[in-house]
Amino acid sequence: MGQVATAKQREIQRIVEALSVAIAQHRLQPGARLVEAQIVDALSANRNHVQSALQRLALQHIVTIEPNRGAMVAQPEAREAREIFIARRAIESAIVASITPEQMAHFATELDAQQAAERTATGLEDRRDIVRELCAFHLLLAKVSGNKVLGEILANLMVRSSLIVSLYQRNDVPACQCAEHGAILAALQRGDTQEAQQVMLTHLNALEAELDLSEAAPGAMSLHQALVG
Ligand SMILES: [Zn+2]
Repeated sequence: MGQVATAKQREIQRIVEALSVAIAQHRLQPGARLVEAQIVDALSANRNHVQSALQRLALQHIVTIEPNRGAMVAQPEAREAREIFIARRAIESAIVASITPEQMAHFATELDAQQAAERTATGLEDRRDIVRELCAFHLLLAKVSGNKVLGEILANLMVRSSLIVSLYQRNDVPACQCAEHGAILAALQRGDTQEAQQVMLTHLNALEAELDLSEAAPGAMSLHQALVG
């Protein structure tokens, strides 16, 4: 019985992750319909598991489920976008504060590989690759910190950040700057927590500044608002 439940949970988690990754990498856009039958086919999954996965994503504010209309990728409002950045500043500041030079040394290989992948992706100018690698940096820092609670919260915030970027980014070029990532890593290697936190906050402020979160932003408008006023 317990094993069956575990296998089911693993399968639901697999579907949750596949959808989260597709959303985070902008392969599924905000507002995209998530048709159960299509997900069942694409992921060779069971319909009940797909429904459970969609409900879990709805609890995480990544998916919206509307009666009679089914599920769609969430479209966070400008206010929620600002709140997510406030949350990211708090969470990522805490993550950076809990990383020691010893932890940095322990993860040196993984950190180097991530930075190399980030530089390659930025050079190739493939938007999906860039988005993936820029997200990966922030998630890797959470892993280095070893704090799983902060890591789980950040994983949710990163997917929601991707939705926000899709909706509110002023221009098409991802804003995350490799140079700032490098400066954060260098400060952490030196054990200069204050500097690492400062650069992280500057970095997140710069990301938020790339977004148009004024209430009049077209992305903040529902279809009803756009048509009826
Ligand atoms: Zn970044």
